[in-house]
Amino acid sequence: MNKPTQVHCFINNKKVIGKSANSFPVYFPATGEILCTANSASVEQLDEAVEIASQAQKKWEKTPSQERSRILKKAAELIRYHTNKIAELEVWDTGKPISEAIEVDVVTAADAIEYFSNLAVTLHGDYYSIQDADILTKIEPIGVCAGIGAWNYPFQIAAWKSAPALACGNSFIFKPSELNTLSAVLLGEIYAEAGLPAGLFQVLQGDAELGQMITAHNGIQKISFTGEVGTGKKIMAASSVNLKTLTMELGGKSPLIIFNDTNPETAAKAALAANFYTQGEVCTNGTRVFIQENFLPQFKKAIEGRSNNVRLGNPFEKEVNVGSLISANHKELVENFINKGKSEGAKAFTMGQIPSGDCAKGYFTQPVIFYDCKDSMKIVKEEIFGPVMSVLTFKTEEEVIERANNTEFGLGAGIFTKDISRIQRMIDQLEAGIVWVNNYNITPVEMPFGGTKQSGFGKENGIDTLNHYTKRKSIYISKGDVFSPF
Ligand code: NDP
Repeated sequence: MNKPTQVHCFINNKKVIGKSANSFPVYFPATGEILCTANSASVEQLDEAVEIASQAQKKWEKTPSQERSRILKKAAELIRYHTNKIAELEVWDTGKPISEAIEVDVVTAADAIEYFSNLAVTLHGDYYSIQDADILTKIEPIGVCAGIGAWNYPFQIAAWKSAPALACGNSFIFKPSELNTLSAVLLGEIYAEAGLPAGLFQVLQGDAELGQMITAHNGIQKISFTGEVGTGKKIMAASSVNLKTLTMELGGKSPLIIFNDTNPETAAKAALAANFYTQGEVCTNGTRVFIQENFLPQFKKAIEGRSNNVRLGNPFEKEVNVGSLISANHKELVENFINKGKSEGAKAFTMGQIPSGDCAKGYFTQPVIFYDCKDSMKIVKEEIFGPVMSVLTFKTEEEVIERANNTEFGLGAGIFTKDISRIQRMIDQLEAGIVWVNNYNITPVEMPFGGTKQSGFGKENGIDTLNHYTKRKSIYISKGDVFSPF
Protein backbone atom coordinates (compact mmCIF):
# COMPACT_ATOMS: atom_id res chain seq x y z
CA MET A 1 0.00 0.00 0.00
CA ASN A 2 2.55 2.56 -1.15
CA LYS A 3 1.43 6.13 -0.76
CA PRO A 4 1.37 7.90 -4.14
CA THR A 5 3.81 10.79 -4.22
CA GLN A 6 3.66 12.08 -7.78
CA VAL A 7 1.04 12.64 -10.48
CA HIS A 8 1.79 12.21 -14.16
CA CYS A 9 0.19 12.68 -17.51
CA PHE A 10 0.62 9.82 -19.99
CA ILE A 11 1.61 11.08 -23.43
CA ASN A 12 3.06 9.01 -26.27
CA ASN A 13 3.32 5.99 -23.91
CA LYS A 14 5.47 7.94 -21.45
CA LYS A 15 4.73 9.26 -17.98
CA VAL A 16 5.39 13.00 -18.02
CA ILE A 17 4.75 15.84 -15.60
CA GLY A 18 2.12 18.39 -16.59
CA LYS A 19 3.77 21.59 -17.79
CA SER A 20 1.06 24.14 -17.08
CA ALA A 21 1.66 26.69 -14.32
CA ASN A 22 -1.70 25.52 -12.85
CA SER A 23 -1.22 23.07 -10.05
CA PHE A 24 -3.60 21.48 -7.60
CA PRO A 25 -3.29 19.40 -4.42
CA VAL A 26 -4.02 15.68 -4.49
CA TYR A 27 -5.87 14.49 -1.38
CA PHE A 28 -6.59 11.11 0.15
CA PRO A 29 -10.31 11.62 0.83
CA ALA A 30 -10.41 9.17 3.74
CA THR A 31 -7.94 11.19 5.84
CA GLY A 32 -7.89 14.59 4.13
CA GLU A 33 -4.10 14.23 3.88
CA ILE A 34 -2.41 15.98 0.94
CA LEU A 35 -0.46 13.30 -0.93
CA CYS A 36 1.26 15.57 -3.44
CA THR A 37 0.71 18.42 -5.85
CA ALA A 38 -0.22 17.79 -9.46
CA ASN A 39 0.49 19.98 -12.46
CA SER A 40 -2.10 20.36 -15.19
CA ALA A 41 -1.20 19.57 -18.76
CA SER A 42 -0.34 22.71 -20.72
CA VAL A 43 -1.97 23.88 -23.96
CA GLU A 44 1.19 22.76 -25.77
CA GLN A 45 0.92 19.29 -24.22
CA LEU A 46 -2.72 19.07 -25.31
CA ASP A 47 -1.76 20.05 -28.87
CA GLU A 48 1.10 17.55 -28.80
CA ALA A 49 -1.16 14.75 -27.53
CA VAL A 50 -3.79 15.48 -30.19
CA GLU A 51 -1.18 15.50 -32.96
CA ILE A 52 0.35 12.22 -31.74
CA ALA A 53 -3.14 10.71 -31.38
CA SER A 54 -4.02 11.76 -34.90
CA GLN A 55 -0.89 10.18 -36.43
CA ALA A 56 -1.24 7.00 -34.36
CA GLN A 57 -4.92 6.65 -35.24
CA LYS A 58 -4.22 6.65 -38.97
CA LYS A 59 -2.03 3.56 -38.56
CA TRP A 60 -4.30 1.93 -35.98
CA GLU A 61 -7.37 1.97 -38.22
CA LYS A 62 -5.37 0.05 -40.82
CA THR A 63 -4.13 -2.48 -38.26
CA PRO A 64 -5.96 -5.79 -38.79
CA SER A 65 -8.87 -6.07 -36.40
CA GLN A 66 -7.50 -9.38 -35.07
CA GLU A 67 -4.32 -7.62 -34.00
CA ARG A 68 -6.34 -4.83 -32.34
CA SER A 69 -8.39 -7.50 -30.63
CA ARG A 70 -5.31 -9.40 -29.36
CA ILE A 71 -3.81 -6.26 -27.80
CA LEU A 72 -7.03 -5.36 -26.01
CA LYS A 73 -7.47 -8.93 -24.78
CA LYS A 74 -3.96 -8.86 -23.36
CA ALA A 75 -4.75 -5.56 -21.60
CA ALA A 76 -7.80 -7.17 -19.97
CA GLU A 77 -5.61 -10.06 -18.75
CA LEU A 78 -3.06 -7.63 -17.32
CA ILE A 79 -5.77 -5.69 -15.52
CA ARG A 80 -6.94 -8.89 -13.84
CA TYR A 81 -3.34 -9.76 -12.97
CA HIS A 82 -2.79 -6.31 -11.40
CA THR A 83 -6.15 -6.23 -9.60
CA ASN A 84 -4.78 -5.37 -6.16
CA LYS A 85 -2.45 -2.65 -7.41
CA ILE A 86 -5.23 -0.99 -9.40
CA ALA A 87 -7.73 -1.32 -6.55
CA GLU A 88 -5.28 0.34 -4.15
CA LEU A 89 -4.82 3.32 -6.46
CA GLU A 90 -8.58 3.51 -6.83
CA VAL A 91 -8.90 3.77 -3.06
CA TRP A 92 -6.26 6.53 -2.86
CA ASP A 93 -8.13 8.29 -5.68
CA THR A 94 -11.67 8.00 -4.32
CA GLY A 95 -11.75 6.89 -0.67
CA LYS A 96 -14.10 4.03 -1.62
CA PRO A 97 -13.85 0.63 0.14
CA ILE A 98 -11.15 -1.62 -1.29
CA SER A 99 -13.53 -4.57 -1.42
CA GLU A 100 -15.70 -2.64 -3.90
CA ALA A 101 -12.72 -1.53 -5.95
CA ILE A 102 -11.57 -5.15 -6.25
CA GLU A 103 -14.99 -6.68 -6.89
CA VAL A 104 -16.53 -4.03 -9.13
CA ASP A 105 -14.24 -1.29 -10.44
CA VAL A 106 -11.43 -3.55 -11.64
CA VAL A 107 -13.70 -6.40 -12.76
CA THR A 108 -16.01 -4.21 -14.82
CA ALA A 109 -13.04 -2.45 -16.43
CA ALA A 110 -11.43 -5.73 -17.48
CA ASP A 111 -14.78 -7.10 -18.67
CA ALA A 112 -15.37 -4.09 -20.91
CA ILE A 113 -11.93 -4.28 -22.50
CA GLU A 114 -12.28 -8.02 -23.09
CA TYR A 115 -15.82 -7.62 -24.47
CA PHE A 116 -14.82 -4.94 -26.96
CA SER A 117 -11.71 -6.92 -27.91
CA ASN A 118 -14.11 -9.65 -29.04
CA LEU A 119 -16.31 -7.18 -30.90
CA ALA A 120 -13.34 -5.60 -32.71
CA VAL A 121 -13.30 -8.50 -35.16
CA THR A 122 -17.04 -8.36 -35.82
CA LEU A 123 -17.27 -4.80 -37.17
CA HIS A 124 -18.85 -4.86 -40.58
CA GLY A 125 -20.98 -2.80 -42.91
CA ASP A 126 -24.15 -3.78 -44.80
CA TYR A 127 -25.08 -4.73 -48.34
CA TYR A 128 -28.38 -4.06 -50.06
CA SER A 129 -29.25 -5.05 -53.57
CA ILE A 130 -31.69 -2.84 -55.42
CA GLN A 131 -32.66 -3.00 -59.05
CA ASP A 132 -30.27 -0.35 -60.34
CA ALA A 133 -27.41 -0.62 -57.89
CA ASP A 134 -25.51 -2.38 -55.17
CA ILE A 135 -25.57 -0.39 -51.97
CA LEU A 136 -22.91 -0.89 -49.34
CA THR A 137 -22.21 0.72 -46.03
CA LYS A 138 -18.68 0.82 -44.68
CA ILE A 139 -17.86 1.22 -40.99
CA GLU A 140 -15.10 3.73 -40.25
CA PRO A 141 -13.60 4.99 -36.99
CA ILE A 142 -14.39 8.54 -35.95
CA GLY A 143 -10.74 9.57 -35.43
CA VAL A 144 -9.37 11.19 -32.29
CA CYS A 145 -11.80 10.67 -29.42
CA ALA A 146 -11.60 12.17 -25.95
CA GLY A 147 -13.12 11.15 -22.64
CA ILE A 148 -13.83 13.52 -19.77
CA GLY A 149 -14.58 11.64 -16.59
CA ALA A 150 -16.38 12.08 -13.27
CA TRP A 151 -14.65 11.18 -10.01
CA ASN A 152 -16.66 8.24 -8.71
CA TYR A 153 -15.34 5.36 -10.87
CA PRO A 154 -12.12 6.73 -12.42
CA PHE A 155 -10.60 3.44 -13.62
CA GLN A 156 -13.88 1.99 -14.83
CA ILE A 157 -14.84 5.20 -16.66
CA ALA A 158 -11.44 5.31 -18.42
CA ALA A 159 -11.84 1.66 -19.45
CA TRP A 160 -15.50 1.83 -20.48
CA LYS A 161 -14.79 4.76 -22.75
CA SER A 162 -11.42 3.75 -24.18
CA ALA A 163 -12.25 0.08 -24.86
CA PRO A 164 -14.91 0.64 -27.56
CA ALA A 165 -12.99 3.62 -28.94
CA LEU A 166 -9.83 1.56 -29.46
CA ALA A 167 -11.69 -1.55 -30.67
CA CYS A 168 -13.28 0.56 -33.41
CA GLY A 169 -9.91 1.94 -34.58
CA ASN A 170 -9.91 5.32 -32.87
CA SER A 171 -7.30 6.91 -30.64
CA PHE A 172 -8.32 8.13 -27.21
CA ILE A 173 -7.32 10.97 -24.89
CA PHE A 174 -8.65 10.87 -21.33
CA LYS A 175 -9.01 13.67 -18.82
CA PRO A 176 -9.85 12.30 -15.39
CA SER A 177 -11.42 14.55 -12.80
CA GLU A 178 -8.79 16.61 -10.98
CA LEU A 179 -10.02 14.75 -7.87
CA ASN A 180 -8.63 11.45 -9.14
CA THR A 181 -5.41 11.52 -10.99
CA LEU A 182 -3.84 8.14 -10.36
CA SER A 183 -5.44 5.03 -11.83
CA ALA A 184 -5.99 6.22 -15.43
CA VAL A 185 -2.21 6.54 -15.86
CA LEU A 186 -1.80 2.93 -14.72
CA LEU A 187 -4.36 1.97 -17.38
CA GLY A 188 -2.11 3.71 -19.92
CA GLU A 189 0.88 1.70 -18.73
CA ILE A 190 -1.14 -1.51 -18.92
CA TYR A 191 -2.27 -0.77 -22.49
CA ALA A 192 1.37 -0.06 -23.40
CA GLU A 193 2.54 -3.32 -21.80
CA ALA A 194 -0.16 -5.14 -23.77
CA GLY A 195 1.35 -3.76 -26.97
CA LEU A 196 -0.86 -0.78 -27.73
CA PRO A 197 1.17 1.54 -29.95
CA ALA A 198 2.14 4.93 -28.52
CA GLY A 199 -0.36 7.75 -28.88
CA LEU A 200 -3.52 5.63 -28.91
CA PHE A 201 -4.34 6.02 -25.22
CA GLN A 202 -3.14 9.17 -23.47
CA VAL A 203 -4.02 10.82 -20.18
CA LEU A 204 -3.96 14.55 -19.52
CA GLN A 205 -4.33 15.84 -15.98
CA GLY A 206 -6.17 19.04 -15.23
CA ASP A 207 -9.33 20.71 -14.06
CA ALA A 208 -12.37 22.15 -15.83
CA GLU A 209 -10.15 24.57 -17.79
CA LEU A 210 -8.36 21.66 -19.47
CA GLY A 211 -11.78 20.07 -20.06
CA GLN A 212 -12.85 23.23 -21.86
CA MET A 213 -9.70 23.23 -24.00
CA ILE A 214 -10.32 19.60 -24.97
CA THR A 215 -13.94 20.33 -25.83
CA ALA A 216 -13.01 23.28 -28.01
CA HIS A 217 -10.11 21.51 -29.76
CA ASN A 218 -10.52 21.22 -33.53
CA GLY A 219 -8.32 18.12 -33.73
CA ILE A 220 -10.72 16.06 -31.60
CA GLN A 221 -13.76 14.55 -33.31
CA LYS A 222 -15.66 12.95 -30.45
CA ILE A 223 -16.19 13.49 -26.74
CA SER A 224 -17.60 10.94 -24.35
CA PHE A 225 -18.48 12.78 -21.17
CA THR A 226 -19.48 11.55 -17.73
CA GLY A 227 -20.56 14.17 -15.23
CA GLU A 228 -23.26 16.59 -14.22
CA VAL A 229 -26.10 17.72 -16.45
CA GLY A 230 -24.99 21.36 -16.31
CA THR A 231 -21.44 20.49 -17.38
CA GLY A 232 -22.83 18.27 -20.13
CA LYS A 233 -24.78 21.21 -21.54
CA LYS A 234 -21.66 23.41 -21.54
CA ILE A 235 -19.72 20.67 -23.32
CA MET A 236 -22.46 20.28 -25.94
CA ALA A 237 -22.38 24.00 -26.64
CA ALA A 238 -18.58 24.17 -26.82
CA SER A 239 -18.39 21.04 -29.00
CA SER A 240 -20.28 22.82 -31.73
CA VAL A 241 -16.96 24.40 -32.75
CA ASN A 242 -16.38 21.45 -35.09
CA LEU A 243 -19.65 19.55 -34.55
CA LYS A 244 -18.12 16.81 -32.45
CA THR A 245 -19.96 13.55 -31.97
CA LEU A 246 -21.03 13.23 -28.34
CA THR A 247 -21.88 10.64 -25.72
CA MET A 248 -23.39 12.10 -22.55
CA GLU A 249 -23.53 10.04 -19.35
CA LEU A 250 -25.11 12.50 -16.93
CA GLY A 251 -26.82 12.62 -13.55
CA GLY A 252 -29.94 10.96 -12.24
CA LYS A 253 -32.59 10.82 -9.53
CA SER A 254 -33.82 7.34 -10.24
CA PRO A 255 -36.98 5.77 -8.82
CA LEU A 256 -36.82 2.40 -7.10
CA ILE A 257 -40.41 1.14 -6.89
CA ILE A 258 -41.23 -1.64 -4.44
CA PHE A 259 -44.65 -3.32 -4.36
CA ASN A 260 -46.09 -5.12 -1.35
CA ASP A 261 -45.61 -8.61 -2.79
CA THR A 262 -41.83 -8.24 -2.37
CA ASN A 263 -39.95 -10.10 0.35
CA PRO A 264 -39.13 -7.39 2.94
CA GLU A 265 -35.52 -8.56 3.30
CA THR A 266 -35.04 -8.41 -0.47
CA ALA A 267 -36.56 -4.92 -0.52
CA ALA A 268 -34.26 -3.72 2.28
CA LYS A 269 -31.14 -5.22 0.70
CA ALA A 270 -31.98 -3.64 -2.65
CA ALA A 271 -32.76 -0.19 -1.26
CA LEU A 272 -29.60 -0.07 0.89
CA ALA A 273 -27.32 -1.23 -1.92
CA ALA A 274 -29.06 1.13 -4.37
CA ASN A 275 -28.29 4.07 -2.12
CA PHE A 276 -25.20 3.43 -0.02
CA TYR A 277 -22.87 1.56 -2.38
CA THR A 278 -19.81 3.74 -3.07
CA GLN A 279 -21.10 6.10 -0.35
CA GLY A 280 -24.04 6.92 -2.60
CA GLU A 281 -21.76 8.37 -5.28
CA VAL A 282 -23.34 6.36 -8.08
CA CYS A 283 -25.19 8.06 -10.92
CA THR A 284 -27.85 5.36 -11.32
CA ASN A 285 -28.66 5.09 -7.61
CA GLY A 286 -32.33 4.51 -6.79
CA THR A 287 -32.54 7.54 -4.53
CA ARG A 288 -36.31 7.94 -4.67
CA VAL A 289 -37.50 4.74 -3.01
CA PHE A 290 -41.26 4.37 -3.60
CA ILE A 291 -42.76 1.86 -1.16
CA GLN A 292 -46.35 0.66 -1.52
CA GLU A 293 -48.09 2.23 1.47
CA ASN A 294 -49.23 -0.90 3.32
CA PHE A 295 -45.73 -2.43 2.96
CA LEU A 296 -43.92 0.43 4.75
CA PRO A 297 -43.88 -1.11 8.27
CA GLN A 298 -42.30 -4.35 6.99
CA PHE A 299 -39.81 -2.42 4.87
CA LYS A 300 -38.80 -0.19 7.79
CA LYS A 301 -38.33 -3.17 10.11
CA ALA A 302 -36.16 -4.98 7.57
CA ILE A 303 -34.06 -1.87 6.91
CA GLU A 304 -33.55 -1.13 10.58
CA GLY A 305 -32.58 -4.74 11.23
CA ARG A 306 -29.68 -4.19 8.87
CA SER A 307 -28.33 -1.06 10.58
CA ASN A 308 -25.34 -2.83 12.05
CA ASN A 309 -24.23 -3.99 8.60
CA VAL A 310 -23.24 -0.42 7.66
CA ARG A 311 -19.55 -0.03 8.51
CA LEU A 312 -17.72 3.24 7.83
CA GLY A 313 -13.95 3.33 8.27
CA ASN A 314 -10.53 3.19 6.70
CA PRO A 315 -11.35 2.11 3.13
CA PHE A 316 -8.23 -0.08 2.98
CA GLU A 317 -9.78 -2.34 5.63
CA LYS A 318 -11.61 -5.25 4.02
CA GLU A 319 -14.67 -5.21 6.32
CA VAL A 320 -15.43 -1.50 5.70
CA ASN A 321 -18.37 -1.08 3.30
CA VAL A 322 -18.88 2.70 3.32
CA GLY A 323 -15.87 4.87 2.51
CA SER A 324 -15.41 8.62 2.56
CA LEU A 325 -16.98 11.13 0.21
CA ILE A 326 -14.68 12.49 -2.45
CA SER A 327 -13.87 15.93 -1.02
CA ALA A 328 -14.53 18.47 1.69
CA ASN A 329 -16.69 20.48 -0.72
CA HIS A 330 -18.76 17.47 -1.63
CA LYS A 331 -19.21 16.51 2.04
CA GLU A 332 -20.50 20.02 2.75
CA LEU A 333 -22.89 19.81 -0.20
CA VAL A 334 -24.27 16.43 0.92
CA GLU A 335 -24.63 17.57 4.52
CA ASN A 336 -26.45 20.72 3.40
CA PHE A 337 -28.94 18.46 1.63
CA ILE A 338 -29.33 16.39 4.81
CA ASN A 339 -29.99 19.51 6.87
CA LYS A 340 -32.47 20.73 4.27
CA GLY A 341 -34.28 17.37 4.40
CA LYS A 342 -34.64 17.71 8.17
CA SER A 343 -35.81 21.33 7.97
CA GLU A 344 -38.38 20.39 5.32
CA GLY A 345 -39.89 17.86 7.73
CA ALA A 346 -38.52 14.49 6.60
CA LYS A 347 -37.62 12.07 9.45
CA ALA A 348 -33.98 10.99 9.41
CA PHE A 349 -32.79 7.52 10.34
CA THR A 350 -28.98 7.50 10.47
CA MET A 351 -26.72 4.48 10.06
CA GLY A 352 -23.07 3.74 10.90
CA GLN A 353 -20.51 5.73 12.89
CA ILE A 354 -18.00 8.32 11.70
CA PRO A 355 -14.57 6.70 12.11
CA SER A 356 -11.97 7.96 14.55
CA GLY A 357 -8.15 7.85 14.43
CA ASP A 358 -6.47 8.64 11.09
CA CYS A 359 -9.84 8.84 9.36
CA ALA A 360 -11.37 11.35 11.77
CA LYS A 361 -10.44 14.17 9.37
CA GLY A 362 -11.63 12.25 6.32
CA TYR A 363 -14.70 13.32 4.36
CA PHE A 364 -17.10 10.81 5.91
CA THR A 365 -20.79 11.34 6.35
CA GLN A 366 -23.27 8.97 7.99
CA PRO A 367 -25.72 7.33 5.60
CA VAL A 368 -29.25 8.67 6.12
CA ILE A 369 -32.68 7.26 5.31
CA PHE A 370 -35.37 9.91 5.15
CA TYR A 371 -38.94 8.76 5.85
CA ASP A 372 -42.08 10.92 5.44
CA CYS A 373 -40.71 12.46 2.26
CA LYS A 374 -42.79 14.47 -0.20
CA ASP A 375 -42.19 14.77 -3.94
CA SER A 376 -41.76 18.53 -3.58
CA MET A 377 -38.81 18.30 -1.15
CA LYS A 378 -35.37 19.37 -2.35
CA ILE A 379 -33.84 16.03 -1.25
CA VAL A 380 -36.38 14.22 -3.44
CA LYS A 381 -36.05 16.44 -6.49
CA GLU A 382 -32.30 17.06 -6.77
CA GLU A 383 -29.36 14.74 -7.28
CA ILE A 384 -27.35 14.56 -4.04
CA PHE A 385 -24.68 12.01 -5.04
CA GLY A 386 -24.17 10.92 -1.44
CA PRO A 387 -25.58 8.31 0.98
CA VAL A 388 -29.06 9.81 1.30
CA MET A 389 -32.15 7.70 0.64
CA SER A 390 -35.58 9.30 0.34
CA VAL A 391 -38.51 6.99 1.10
CA LEU A 392 -41.89 7.88 -0.40
CA THR A 393 -45.12 5.92 -0.26
CA PHE A 394 -47.68 5.23 -3.00
CA LYS A 395 -51.00 3.44 -3.36
CA THR A 396 -51.44 2.49 -7.01
CA GLU A 397 -49.37 1.56 -10.02
CA GLU A 398 -50.72 4.48 -12.11
CA GLU A 399 -49.87 6.95 -9.35
CA VAL A 400 -46.32 5.71 -8.87
CA ILE A 401 -45.53 5.71 -12.59
CA GLU A 402 -46.63 9.30 -12.91
CA ARG A 403 -44.60 10.37 -9.88
CA ALA A 404 -41.55 8.33 -10.89
CA ASN A 405 -41.52 10.05 -14.29
CA ASN A 406 -42.00 13.52 -12.82
CA THR A 407 -38.33 14.52 -13.12
CA GLU A 408 -36.00 15.99 -15.72
CA PHE A 409 -33.73 12.95 -15.27
CA GLY A 410 -34.14 9.55 -16.95
CA LEU A 411 -31.18 7.37 -16.05
CA GLY A 412 -32.32 4.24 -14.19
CA ALA A 413 -35.50 2.83 -12.65
CA GLY A 414 -36.18 -0.26 -10.55
CA ILE A 415 -39.32 -2.35 -10.09
CA PHE A 416 -39.75 -5.00 -7.41
CA THR A 417 -42.88 -7.15 -7.75
CA LYS A 418 -43.84 -10.71 -8.64
CA ASP A 419 -46.63 -9.55 -10.98
CA ILE A 420 -45.33 -10.10 -14.51
CA SER A 421 -48.13 -8.13 -16.24
CA ARG A 422 -47.43 -5.18 -14.01
CA ILE A 423 -43.72 -5.44 -14.84
CA GLN A 424 -44.47 -5.40 -18.56
CA ARG A 425 -46.80 -2.39 -18.30
CA MET A 426 -44.30 -0.47 -16.20
CA ILE A 427 -41.32 -1.18 -18.45
CA ASP A 428 -43.28 0.45 -21.27
CA GLN A 429 -44.13 3.54 -19.27
CA LEU A 430 -41.06 4.33 -17.16
CA GLU A 431 -38.95 7.10 -18.67
CA ALA A 432 -35.49 5.69 -18.06
CA GLY A 433 -32.50 4.48 -20.04
CA ILE A 434 -32.27 1.33 -17.89
CA VAL A 435 -35.04 -0.54 -16.06
CA TRP A 436 -33.99 -3.17 -13.50
CA VAL A 437 -36.61 -5.72 -12.51
CA ASN A 438 -36.24 -7.47 -9.14
CA ASN A 439 -32.66 -6.28 -8.85
CA TYR A 440 -30.85 -2.95 -9.01
CA ASN A 441 -27.65 -1.32 -10.27
CA ILE A 442 -26.28 -4.45 -11.92
CA THR A 443 -24.31 -3.47 -15.01
CA PRO A 444 -23.15 -6.49 -17.01
CA VAL A 445 -21.01 -5.50 -19.96
CA GLU A 446 -23.52 -6.95 -22.45
CA MET A 447 -26.18 -4.44 -21.33
CA PRO A 448 -26.12 -0.99 -22.95
CA PHE A 449 -25.72 1.61 -20.20
CA GLY A 450 -26.96 5.18 -20.48
CA GLY A 451 -29.82 7.55 -19.87
CA THR A 452 -32.63 9.39 -21.56
CA LYS A 453 -34.16 12.87 -20.99
CA GLN A 454 -31.57 15.10 -19.27
CA SER A 455 -29.56 12.09 -18.08
CA GLY A 456 -27.95 12.08 -21.49
CA PHE A 457 -27.68 10.08 -24.67
CA GLY A 458 -25.42 7.54 -26.30
CA LYS A 459 -24.48 4.28 -24.61
CA GLU A 460 -21.57 2.61 -22.90
CA ASN A 461 -21.20 -1.17 -22.92
CA GLY A 462 -23.26 -3.46 -25.16
CA ILE A 463 -23.00 -3.86 -28.92
CA ASP A 464 -24.87 -0.57 -29.39
CA THR A 465 -21.77 1.33 -28.21
CA LEU A 466 -19.97 0.42 -31.44
CA ASN A 467 -22.36 2.81 -33.21
CA HIS A 468 -21.16 5.63 -30.97
CA TYR A 469 -17.49 5.15 -31.90
CA THR A 470 -17.88 4.62 -35.64
CA LYS A 471 -19.33 6.41 -38.60
CA ARG A 472 -20.98 4.81 -41.58
CA LYS A 473 -20.11 5.59 -45.18
CA SER A 474 -22.79 4.77 -47.76
CA ILE A 475 -21.66 3.56 -51.18
CA TYR A 476 -23.86 3.39 -54.27
CA ILE A 477 -22.49 1.27 -57.11
CA SER A 478 -24.61 1.81 -60.16
CA LYS A 479 -25.74 -1.00 -62.44
CA GLY A 480 -27.66 1.27 -64.79
CA ASP A 481 -27.39 4.31 -66.99
CA VAL A 482 -26.84 7.82 -65.59
CA PHE A 483 -30.09 9.73 -65.19
CA SER A 484 -29.94 13.34 -66.30
CA PRO A 485 -32.53 15.79 -67.56
CA PHE A 486 -29.72 17.68 -69.31
P1 NDP B 1 -18.69 17.38 -13.22
O1 NDP B 1 -19.66 17.64 -14.30
O2 NDP B 1 -18.44 18.44 -12.22
O3 NDP B 1 -17.25 17.02 -13.82
C1 NDP B 1 -17.05 15.96 -14.71
C2 NDP B 1 -15.79 16.19 -15.49
O4 NDP B 1 -15.93 17.34 -16.33
C3 NDP B 1 -14.57 16.44 -14.63
O5 NDP B 1 -13.45 15.84 -15.24
C4 NDP B 1 -14.46 17.95 -14.65
O6 NDP B 1 -13.17 18.41 -14.38
C5 NDP B 1 -14.86 18.25 -16.08
N1 NDP B 1 -15.39 19.58 -16.33
C6 NDP B 1 -15.97 20.44 -15.46
N2 NDP B 1 -16.38 21.55 -16.11
C7 NDP B 1 -16.06 21.39 -17.42
C8 NDP B 1 -16.25 22.17 -18.61
N3 NDP B 1 -16.86 23.35 -18.57
N4 NDP B 1 -15.80 21.67 -19.79
C9 NDP B 1 -15.22 20.47 -19.86
N5 NDP B 1 -15.00 19.69 -18.78
C10 NDP B 1 -15.44 20.12 -17.57
O7 NDP B 1 -19.17 16.02 -12.52
P2 NDP B 1 -18.57 15.34 -11.24
O8 NDP B 1 -17.14 14.99 -11.49
O9 NDP B 1 -18.92 16.17 -10.05
O10 NDP B 1 -19.37 13.96 -11.20
C11 NDP B 1 -20.61 13.80 -10.60
C12 NDP B 1 -21.69 13.80 -11.66
O11 NDP B 1 -21.42 12.80 -12.63
C13 NDP B 1 -23.05 13.45 -11.10
O12 NDP B 1 -24.03 14.30 -11.66
C14 NDP B 1 -23.28 12.04 -11.57
O13 NDP B 1 -24.62 11.67 -11.66
C15 NDP B 1 -22.58 12.05 -12.90
N6 NDP B 1 -22.23 10.68 -13.31
C16 NDP B 1 -22.91 10.10 -14.34
C17 NDP B 1 -22.64 8.80 -14.71
C18 NDP B 1 -23.36 8.15 -15.86
O14 NDP B 1 -22.83 7.19 -16.39
N7 NDP B 1 -24.52 8.60 -16.27
C19 NDP B 1 -21.64 8.00 -14.01
C20 NDP B 1 -20.95 8.72 -12.98
C21 NDP B 1 -21.25 10.03 -12.65
P3 NDP B 1 -12.73 18.66 -12.85
O15 NDP B 1 -13.41 17.66 -11.99
O16 NDP B 1 -11.28 18.43 -12.88
O17 NDP B 1 -13.16 20.05 -12.52
